[in-house]
Order: sequence, then structure tokens, then C-alpha cells
Amino acid sequence: MSKKNTYDFAIIGAGIVGLSTALHLQRQNKNVLVLEKENKPGLHQSGRNSGVIHSGIYYRPNSSKSELSIRGRNLLIEYLNEKGINYRQEGKVVVDNDLEKLENLQSRSKELEMHGVDIVQDDDLLSIEPNSVIKKGLFVPQAGVVDYGEVVRTYAGEFIELGGEIQYIEEIIEIENAHNAKKIKSKNNSFSCEFLINCAGLFSDEIARMDGMSPNVRIIPFRGEYYKIRNTKNSILNNMIYPLADPDLPFLGIHLTKTANGDIEAGPNAVLAFSKEGYKWTDINFVDLTKVLTYPGMIKLGKKYLKTGLSEMYRSLNKKVFVKEIQKLINGVSSEDIIQIPSGVRAQAVDEEGNLLDDFLFEEGSSSLHVLNSPSPAATASLAIGESIASKILN
Ligand SMILES: Cc1cc2nc3c(=O)[nH]c(=O)nc-3n(C[C@H](O)[C@H](O)[C@H](O)COP(=O)(O)OP(=O)(O)OC[C@H]3O[C@@H](n4cnc5c(N)ncnc54)[C@H](O)[C@@H]3O)c2cc1C
Repeated sequence: MSKKNTYDFAIIGAGIVGLSTALHLQRQNKNVLVLEKENKPGLHQSGRNSGVIHSGIYYRPNSSKSELSIRGRNLLIEYLNEKGINYRQEGKVVVDNDLEKLENLQSRSKELEMHGVDIVQDDDLLSIEPNSVIKKGLFVPQAGVVDYGEVVRTYAGEFIELGGEIQYIEEIIEIENAHNAKKIKSKNNSFSCEFLINCAGLFSDEIARMDGMSPNVRIIPFRGEYYKIRNTKNSILNNMIYPLADPDLPFLGIHLTKTANGDIEAGPNAVLAFSKEGYKWTDINFVDLTKVLTYPGMIKLGKKYLKTGLSEMYRSLNKKVFVKEIQKLINGVSSEDIIQIPSGVRAQAVDEEGNLLDDFLFEEGSSSLHVLNSPSPAATASLAIGESIASKILN
């Protein structure tokens, strides 16, 4: 395909959010360019996650996270069926010994009009997950699993088929507001568009600043590490066991997931990464780290969650402690049964007061829209997020 000089829309980031947005705009016959710094789509958060199709039960009713995740889940299931992408939707159990807390979560499901969410105890729970350690739980039938890497590649394929353009290995380093147009520059090229959409995940705050915005948040990278349980033990879990999440934190806690391909994965924890793409302890970028550690919001956050942060780090460095966390959820797993697999890094917006932003955050600039917080369940919600961005811009 011949490259054009100017586009109606340029989207920075070929992750699941950028590509869903691109797809929705392209379906309206717009002239859309996606710019991605890597050589393939979905190499960061969108290809390094738990692969869970979230039910939406945790999110505050009427928040954009709640609305977009429930609509997004329905759109995603339709899309997976239409494209023949492998997935399972057999539900999860959220376990806790405090029945009252589980009942509160069940009431939330009623507010959200989610059907079939039931308290399960003892034999009922064991008939769903025979190896669960905790015998009180909430069964949530809407949850499922899929390989989001495959979903991203399918969005990209459909976008291109419809006439869209993706240019890889183009890291955007400068944005200029020229007369009636935006000039977006990478090291070697310059692109012109009428409207810019920033879906740069871990770098979305930096892209917003390049566009002259002063967002009240910074993206702080939190690594999520995973272990895989030996395949010979694949029968110990049917679907998913989750602990009840801490309502003060946007992370759901280490859980067990039988992935779309049948492997069992345990994780993710949440450890401060020393680089925006710090997938290992040894990935250290002193510029990124200095920015994080000197950010007033991070200093306040550190004071609030010092103990939690340190215990996450200790568990990350100590396999035995990680195993103990798994053993709190499921019987039949020992240290020899687990091997570490690649981690993911969450792009989590933190405001200047030290709050971890829970809801999705979109900010408008001049002829631009910036996705400044799209953490989990943004993969589940991706089609609804793309739909909503496209309709906002086109209207
Ligand atoms: C450990 C972990 C577990 C998760 N589990 C789940 C789950 O089970 N279910 C769920 O629904 N969600 C889950 N999520 C959340 C979900 O994966 C993310 O919310 C979603 O992938 C965000 O997509 P994105 O497109 O915004 O970001 P990304 O996938 O990170 O895409 C951003 C893209 O922008 C590109 N980019 C950045 N800067 C530039 C630049 N300057 N120039 C050009 N390109 C640039 C990057 O290379 C990247 O490809 C999880 C996330 C993590 C990290």
C-alpha cells in the first residue's frame, strides 16, 4: 500500500486499545494511521497479561470502567465468536472466609444486573474447583479466558483489510501543532494528521506532555510476575480461583487461571518496576526511575503503601513465599511444580496526591485525545473503549 502524506487520524500505540480505536474509525471509512515503536502489535501490556475476560463485578456502578467493561465483554464475546478465536467462558470463583464480604460483592452483581452470580460453599464450591483451599466463594459465570495477543493480531488484520495503515518501528518523539494539522515526528519520519489519539500505554503521559498537555497524573510501571504450574498438574484447576480483592487497590491479587491453551498460571503480583518496560529486576532505566522516585504523587503513594510494597518485593524475590501464596488458594502445588514465565508491566496512573487511579481516564487536547489510564480490564473492555473514543471524536 502506498503511504499517504496526511491522515484524518493518527493513533500512537498498536496495543489493544489503539487498534480497537483504529478499527472503529476505519469501519467508518476514515483515513487512519497507527504508529508503533515496536516491530509487531501488542508486544507490551496487551500481549503480557492474565488473559482473563473480566466479568466487571468489581467496578463501581456508573463508573466508566464498569460501563465499558460490561459492554466491552459482550462485544468481545461476539467478536471472538465471529472471528473463530479460541476462548472459554466457564466462570471463576472468588474465595474468602468472610461470607459477609462475598455477599456484599454479590449485591454489587445484582446492581450491575449480572445473572447467576451465586454464593457457593463446601461441596458446591468443591464441585466447581475440587482443590480449592477456601470453601466459601462467589461463583461468577461471566468470567472467561482468551489469548489477547491473538485478539490484537486479529484487530490489526481486520484494520489493514479495511484499508488502514500501521507503521512499525516509529517511536514518536515530538508533536508539533502546525496550522490546521498535527505533525508527529519519529527519529526518521514526520506524519501529518488532523486529529491525534494517544494510546501509548506506559508512555501515554509522556506523549500527552509532548502534545502540550499538563496531565495531573504520571504513569507508574508496576510489574506483574507469573509462575506456570507444571503441565502434568493441569487437572488441579478447572477455570479460575481468585482471592477477594482489596477494595483500596486496583490490583486483583495473585490468582490462578487456566489459560485459553490449558496451562495453569499463578500471578500477577505488583512490584514497582525500575523502568517503564522493566520486565525483570535487572531492567533499570535511571531516567525513568528518577522521574518515578521524585514524583510527589509517588512519594505520597510510597508512604501510604510502604508495607504492602515491601512485602510484594520480598515475595517477588523469594519463590517460597510466592508458593505459599498459591498454596493459600489451591491444594497440590509445591515449589518444584512451578516455573517463572514472562512478566507484564501495568501502566498505572497515579495522581499528585498519591492516589492510584481506579477509573479509566481520557483527556482531550486541541485536536487530540489522550488515553491516560487504561489498566485492567482494558483488554476485556477494548472494543467498548475504541467504540466510545471513535463516537466521541466523530460526533
Ligand atoms: C500483568 C498484567 C495483567 C493483566 N491482566 C488483564 C486481564 O486478565 N484482563 C484484562 O482485561 N486486562 C488485563 N490487563 C490490562 C490490559 O492488558 C491493559 O489494560 C491493556 O493491554 C492496555 O492496552 P493499551 O493498548 O492501552 O496498552 P499497550 O498494550 O501497552 O500498548 C501501548 C503501545 O504503545 C506503544 N508506544 C508507547 N510509546 C510509543 C511511542 N513513543 N511511539 C510509538 N509507539 C509507542 C507501545 O510499544 C505499545 O505497543 C493486564 C495488564 C497487565 C500488565
